[in-house]
Amino acid sequence: MDKPEIFMAPGPTPVAPEVLLAQAAPLVYHRGPGYGALLREVTEELKRLFRTTNDVLIFTSSGTGGLESAVANLFSPGDRVVVPVAGYFGERFAKIATAYGLDVRTIDYEWGQAVRLADVEAALAEAPTKAVLVQQSETSTAVIHDIEGIGGLTTAAGVLLVVDCVSSVGAVPFECDAWGVDVAVGGSQKALSATPGLAFVAVSDAAWEASKTATNPRFYFDWASYKASYDLPDPENPWTPAISLMQGLREALRMYFAEGREAALLRHRLLAAAVKDGVRALGLDLFGANPEKAWAVTAIRAPEGIDGNELVARVRADHGVILAQGQGPLKGKVFRIGHLGYYDRLDIIRCLAALEMTLADMGYPVKRGAAVAAAEEIFAATS
Ligand SMILES: *Cc1c(COP(=O)(O)O)cnc(C)c1O
Repeated sequence: MDKPEIFMAPGPTPVAPEVLLAQAAPLVYHRGPGYGALLREVTEELKRLFRTTNDVLIFTSSGTGGLESAVANLFSPGDRVVVPVAGYFGERFAKIATAYGLDVRTIDYEWGQAVRLADVEAALAEAPTKAVLVQQSETSTAVIHDIEGIGGLTTAAGVLLVVDCVSSVGAVPFECDAWGVDVAVGGSQKALSATPGLAFVAVSDAAWEASKTATNPRFYFDWASYKASYDLPDPENPWTPAISLMQGLREALRMYFAEGREAALLRHRLLAAAVKDGVRALGLDLFGANPEKAWAVTAIRAPEGIDGNELVARVRADHGVILAQGQGPLKGKVFRIGHLGYYDRLDIIRCLAALEMTLADMGYPVKRGAAVAAAEEIFAATS
């Protein structure tokens, strides 16, 4: 019997049956009262998720579209931006800014390191700067960057802070307003466990001001169009929205807040701790500067003599569990377990059991059950 595979990669994440059913329901027409109520509910719930009173705009795109919208709306060619690069998604942000002709001052780190505040401070002091563009969770290395600390620096310097929190918001504590974040970008297919295809962007007053004088070209992602449509008596999208995905996202948000924000964060912390203790019990080493903060994804060094990509492929082929490979320079050397989104304890147990059996098959010395036992200890200690 073939059971469906389980996604344990850092996006897309498993989609609950309730969300799939909501997406399969008849469409609500996208102009007028029905869609207006849907868009308003989703927007208000996303504000709760981001912890903001700022406007939140929703786009039909993956998370990268939300990142591109920030660069297109906030800046003009030649504007200086500081972009810490400590992994694949830092590189992506730098590439988007370069594509739009910005003056991109990267701060380059070895992959796996965390951004150091002193480096950001020094880069800001070098020359007049418009913004810092940074991830909260650098998904490729599982490292969490200190957005609160960076927010202190950008606020003091009068510089915009643009945060890619696609793989963190909902899984890791994030405080848009309290931390001075001007633009926060999220996506549907990560901690909320909705299907891919929607990006959401929180925009502060200072970001709106900057967008008024910015001259980068923009059309589909023109923030002002979205705001004008949202401000109609029945909120709308400027273009045809992905109606079914919005119906699914509303259900995913209802489920998230029915569990409760604090409870959902604690669940992520617990499952992350179980994964980390489990892999350590197998004698594997965690990768990245701050695994204790990495509640969304765990990066693990492939043991000596075992290719990480082959391990990931075999866990999937033999056990139907989809882990993620290492990216860039970490290809083959690191593999990743995603635990952000709609997961429970037994999903983690299943994943760790699959990992143990596959490692044993590949000739790595495994004490059978060690990872599962370590995870159960974590669960027992907190119930
Ligand atoms: C997943 C992810 C994105 C978005 O990628 P898309 O494939 O465009 O949805 C952006 N940043 C980070 C840190 C991510 O993990």
